[in-house]
Amino acid sequence: MSITLLSKELIEKIAAGEVVERPSSVIKELIENSIDAGAKNITIEIEKGGISYIRISDNGSGMSEEDAKMCFFAHATSKISKEPDLFSISTLGFRGEALSSISAVSKVTLFTRTIGSEYALKLVNHGGTVISTEACGKPDGTTIVVEDLFYNVPARLKFLKKPSTESSYISAIIQKYILARPDISFRYICDGKDVYHSRGDDSLKNAIYTIYGKDVYSNLIAVDYLYDYIQISGFVGEPEISRGTRSFQNLFVNGRYIRSDIIANSVKQGYANRIMPAKHPVFILSLKVPLDSVDVNVHPNKLDVRFKDEGLIQECFFKAVRSAFEEERIKPEVEHIKQEAIPSIVPQYSIKESIKENIIKAAKEEIAFEYNPSPDTNMVSQFQSVLPRNEEYVQIPVVYKEQQTDTVVVKHPYIDTKEAKPTQTELQMNLSKEIGDYLIIGQLFNTYLLVEYKDSFLLIDQHAAHERLNTDMMLSELENSNILKQQLLIPAVVQLTAQDFTTVMESTEDFLSLGFELEEFGNSTIRINSVPHIFGEKNPESFFFETLDSIRKNPKMDTRKHIIFETACKHSIKAGQPLSKSEIGELIKRSFEDDSPLNCPHGRPIVIIKTKKEIEKWFMRIV
Ligand code: ADP
Ligand code: MG
Repeated sequence: MSITLLSKELIEKIAAGEVVERPSSVIKELIENSIDAGAKNITIEIEKGGISYIRISDNGSGMSEEDAKMCFFAHATSKISKEPDLFSISTLGFRGEALSSISAVSKVTLFTRTIGSEYALKLVNHGGTVISTEACGKPDGTTIVVEDLFYNVPARLKFLKKPSTESSYISAIIQKYILARPDISFRYICDGKDVYHSRGDDSLKNAIYTIYGKDVYSNLIAVDYLYDYIQISGFVGEPEISRGTRSFQNLFVNGRYIRSDIIANSVKQGYANRIMPAKHPVFILSLKVPLDSVDVNVHPNKLDVRFKDEGLIQECFFKAVRSAFEEERIKPEVEHIKQEAIPSIVPQYSIKESIKENIIKAAKEEIAFEYNPSPDTNMVSQFQSVLPRNEEYVQIPVVYKEQQTDTVVVKHPYIDTKEAKPTQTELQMNLSKEIGDYLIIGQLFNTYLLVEYKDSFLLIDQHAAHERLNTDMMLSELENSNILKQQLLIPAVVQLTAQDFTTVMESTEDFLSLGFELEEFGNSTIRINSVPHIFGEKNPESFFFETLDSIRKNPKMDTRKHIIFETACKHSIKAGQPLSKSEIGELIKRSFEDDSPLNCPHGRPIVIIKTKKEIEKWFMRIV
């Protein structure tokens, strides 16, 4: 193919692709322009996910007639003019690309009026070509209407998701700016409904309330940190409201929303061991640094920045969070579960005298008791409702024999986890079928049940085991369409973020099939009229947050499975919960009955099995 120069239209469309990926990128650019114009009120209206209609009005500076005609040209900007300006950018925009890119791929109408001018100007631009320019009446400021995005680039249109998904991306962008600029009042209207209306009273806490509601608002710790030229302020969430994804993390640098895994990690380190390894803290943090210490010209979408002194910035975030906790002097640190492998060789240390005494004392006491095959009459009723499981999901558990040790770990057969890779020495057996007589030794750390079985020693995670049973029960009920639900006397009300609200409203049928009768309650709030019978009296708020995190992390999995797993988890006996003898007996019995797979729905093992031979090796009885 011979070389030809691309046409102006094609060049514009290629350039537009870098800036305008989807409706939310248009919204981002237009909001940034309004902020740069000094607006204190910004109203965003969208229809059909912003694909058919976007309207943004501001009360900013407006544009002169000359500027309004210029602004659609590529690389037309009022924000920088000479090279040194690039290293001290105080505005959100500076590349002069947004309006030219947006107008190249949509139908734009611009209304603008500067303070004191006699009339406003109306400019229509379709696909990068000015159609008309006329004077009209309009209040001060600028309004931009963007219609039929990608009408002239059908290939791009095909890549867009359904309107509700596009709206949720837009909500996410608007959230960021509401949090970045509490001094500006934002109003967001989606398909005629008010989604957000922030006060613009310069209170970050109020802005947080607008976005995340009461749960986050009332669990915040203030961060205020100054070191040399680095200033960090904002809030971090209490460890209890940490989430399973990073979507509740907000970071702003000189008023610009950015993403940075490095800083997110430093923030998490600041929590020390207050937070579980798999959780991510909620934070809304602002960094203020001199303009020349940060390079914002890294990518056209301006989401990544480069710091002159990245190491120092990281350290400051860590220290800022750490000192926020110190000042707060909040609750004792929770011990997180160490995920280290069980050592195959026991270290050669001498047991301290006091510990030795305790062991001897414990041995003398009656800590062991025989398993009683006919359970007590006061058996916990929650186990009695366990129904036969759904064959579709139940598979024979695979038992992996770890290399070089005789430790056997029973893992989940249908959920893929990194650790669950079969080894060459994999051995298939149906443990449950083999289980016959066993001796229950007791409960360890109020978390693990100890069982002697033939020539092996079983360590059972009580939470995981119970969760497995509850999951199977719900799967079976779902299969037989007989989910038992319980009407709530007083319906519960849960406030969600706009994206989470969309996800829930799209899945109301799935929730209903599992006993959750949900109703829209206005302003991203849902009303819960009924819950599955096993749910009990628990507060449904955290259940919804966790289910939504789980959906976000693995959107491909059937939503009903997410709901089942989280319901089962919430209802299950917790780690650290002391159990009576009969409760232990019943849990073990039910777990071993009916070929129940010995693995929890999250893919963690339920049982670790140590053979007698291995234990003998530890003590060098055999080599
Ligand atoms: P950039 O923001 O990078 O300068 P844009 O293409 O987004 O480039 O905008 C071009 C110019 O149009 C801006 O520099 C600004 O002068 C003007 N402009 C755009 N939107 C507004 C607005 N809402 N109010 C006032 N001026 C605006
Ligand atoms: Mg701009």
